[in-house]
Amino acid sequence: MTDTLLSRFLRYVRINTQSCDRSTACPSTSGQMDLQRLLRTELAELGAAEVRLTKHGYVLATIPATTRKRGIPTVAFLAHVDTAPDFSGQEVKPIVHRRYDGGTIRFPDDPSLVLHPSTTPELRDAKGKDIVTASGTTLLGADDKAGVAVLMTLTEYLLRHPEVKHGPIRIGFTPDEEIGRGVDKLDLRDLAANVAYTLDGHSPGEICGETFSGDSALVTIEGVSTHPGEAKAKGMVNAAHLAGKFLSALPREHCAPETTSDREGFIHPTQIEGTVERATLRLILRDFELAGLAEKRAIVQGVCRGLQAAAPQARITCRIRKQYRNMAYWLRTDMRPVELAREAFRAIGLPAKDERVRGGTDGSRLTERGLPTPNLFCGMHNVHGPLEWVAVQDMELAVRACVRLAEVWEQKGRGFRGFRTAH
Ligand SMILES: [Zn+2]
Repeated sequence: MTDTLLSRFLRYVRINTQSCDRSTACPSTSGQMDLQRLLRTELAELGAAEVRLTKHGYVLATIPATTRKRGIPTVAFLAHVDTAPDFSGQEVKPIVHRRYDGGTIRFPDDPSLVLHPSTTPELRDAKGKDIVTASGTTLLGADDKAGVAVLMTLTEYLLRHPEVKHGPIRIGFTPDEEIGRGVDKLDLRDLAANVAYTLDGHSPGEICGETFSGDSALVTIEGVSTHPGEAKAKGMVNAAHLAGKFLSALPREHCAPETTSDREGFIHPTQIEGTVERATLRLILRDFELAGLAEKRAIVQGVCRGLQAAAPQARITCRIRKQYRNMAYWLRTDMRPVELAREAFRAIGLPAKDERVRGGTDGSRLTERGLPTPNLFCGMHNVHGPLEWVAVQDMELAVRACVRLAEVWEQKGRGFRGFRTAH
């Protein structure tokens, strides 16, 4: 299995699929469509059923049931084809380090970069495995082409082994996850699944059934612009200055990404723009609990009110938008999607590790829409930068875990229908 899995992965990472939030198209970049067309062809060649590339760039396919039992839920496995806009994904040159010796890994295109277990402890578990890195000037794109290669290999395995008993399986490749639009145009009636898993996690054994809840805030400050020479007489109100005051009034201790960890949420200014006349600030608000998120909205609104009171001539508005919600709110009502994944992992000798993601996943939004979608590991590490790496044997473990998971749903999932029927 390893070599097909590896050759697939190497083929996919060479295609530049960086997404771009300045584009309004879906997918946002044409490279993603190139990979999707390739995946459609490969799925058809493997003999998958109902292979489709939708007009919005989603690839969907079916692995027909091999069980005769009735009422077995349809399980979907999903991975995203885009890579992060944060770091170049152009001309990725993957390097395979066979049987990693546990020491330093260097990068030919940037000698200043080093990968070492002292700074990346996960490497300790990778000793003896085959590791893939990029060459120093790009990210690798294991996020999420590791997931894509795992699912293509899963498809091949299940189609070639009809003796493995499972219900209907759906495979889905989605665009634009990294710019937060991964499931915007995914029609859940098209996907037609009762439960789903994204393959977009890190170390072997990881299962994520809990994410942040997230809101965004846009604060607009309108000042009063005059010639600076007569600003005092004419009553200048400097919006840029007020924006600075706004930032300094935000709590930082236990309330910023750089000062929080584990279960703590934060308020995070992501962008500021300003002139005397007008300034805008964009922020993201995150918390695992809705009460904590409401508290953070109240802090931002309170700072705006305070600023407005101190500068009555300015006009300060604050618009808060919902982004996504912690999937645990829905999963807690029926934990089978997480429990059966744990059971599948145990069955292949892999200790399950519950992960709380300090971020959102496509699964957060799918779960809220009624399709329970925990996230599973697929081996990626140090994502979104030049030190990204993946171990081939970890991807292989993910394939085995998914095969087992398909079987476990056939044995124990009867009657599970997801959270509601109307999406
Ligand atoms: Zn990802």
